[in-house]
Amino acid sequence: MSYQQQSDVLERFLRYVQINTQSSDANCDQVPSSACQFDLANLLADELRELGALDVAVSEHAYVTAHIPASAGAEDRPALGLIAHLDTTEVAPGAGVKPHIVSYAGGDLVCGTVDGKPVALTPEKVPALRELVGEDLVCTDGTTLLGGDDKAGVAEIMALVARIAANPELPHPALGICFCPDEEIGHGAELLDIPSFGCTYAYTVDGGPIGELEWECFNACEITVDFEGFSIHPGDAKDRMVNASNLFAEYHSLLPACERPEHTEGYEGFIHIEGVSSTVTHATARYIVRDHDAKRFQEKIDLMQRAADFVNARLGEQRVTVSMKQQYRNMAEVVAEYPQLIDVAKEAFEAAGVTPQVLPIRGGTDGAQLSFRGLPCPNLSTGVYCCHGVNEFIPVSSLETMVDVLEKLVARFA
Ligand SMILES: [Zn+2]
Repeated sequence: MSYQQQSDVLERFLRYVQINTQSSDANCDQVPSSACQFDLANLLADELRELGALDVAVSEHAYVTAHIPASAGAEDRPALGLIAHLDTTEVAPGAGVKPHIVSYAGGDLVCGTVDGKPVALTPEKVPALRELVGEDLVCTDGTTLLGGDDKAGVAEIMALVARIAANPELPHPALGICFCPDEEIGHGAELLDIPSFGCTYAYTVDGGPIGELEWECFNACEITVDFEGFSIHPGDAKDRMVNASNLFAEYHSLLPACERPEHTEGYEGFIHIEGVSSTVTHATARYIVRDHDAKRFQEKIDLMQRAADFVNARLGEQRVTVSMKQQYRNMAEVVAEYPQLIDVAKEAFEAAGVTPQVLPIRGGTDGAQLSFRGLPCPNLSTGVYCCHGVNEFIPVSSLETMVDVLEKLVARFA
């Protein structure tokens, strides 16, 4: 397929994924956490200007914002926001992405070869592959992630803007476009100036396989547990040493194994240990807690405190302390008051020939925070599979169909 023959959205996607935009948790006190996110931000701003968007700006924090005026007759309709994120995750290599298209004929999906071994996905591991026989799939070369999370969302929104620029009569309300940084490190669009964005409702385009429609996410917090030991020469330790590493092991064993992420799905929440560092003197364990249900979420937090109380009571002194940092809340609390946002999105999927699937997000989105800040914001699919890893891929047809879905969606708001 020649470059010219490629559809607008595919061409954009292949270009955007080759620009490294990995965010960096180590720099999470700055926004953006990595300067490279400006590379894509500035490029998108230039392209938006060329497409005739208004108020195009890249803020000092790498937020790209722009407005598209309403089509004739829809000027009095509430403005609608479309949002995607610039950054990609740092959990897999994200620089030097070399996308290529595989015509998938069934069986293992081999995206590349690394050290003489094929990097492959099997239909056993990803049963959805069985539905994708005959499709063109954009894959990596096996050494990096693809970055479809969320450059697929970015490309789909940009392709919609281009389609509207070429066909201004396509019905749409005034649109706010936003590409924000650092979603992958939990930044959550907190610096988006909602009043000047000027939208009544918005959608993030940051979901998985095509058809996914999400308006419930986890309640989320981070819990750090510190263990204070007492160190003394092991030869003299009897009845005196308190080994912080053993306090951690005791504490962790009190948490229910059945509530670990590797044993939960759907609406089941979890307690997940992200890491631990320990010596005799001191140990620190980092956990995250997730649950869609606010009551069960609080019960998990309480359980973690009770486990600390239990160890402290056995020791007869305070050596285990639990501290909690709230991360995000389930946006369903807000979005439930705007059921029309879900209905309209379902209609848009169906009008584009896609069966919508309403799923609870087992994570968060930028929309969670935006919803609580007054901009109700469900999440739409991008079409991407297996994101955050070297096996990530996206069907070309999903990229193209998502632009149709967005076109149908904005028409319904006009
Ligand atoms: Zn994402």
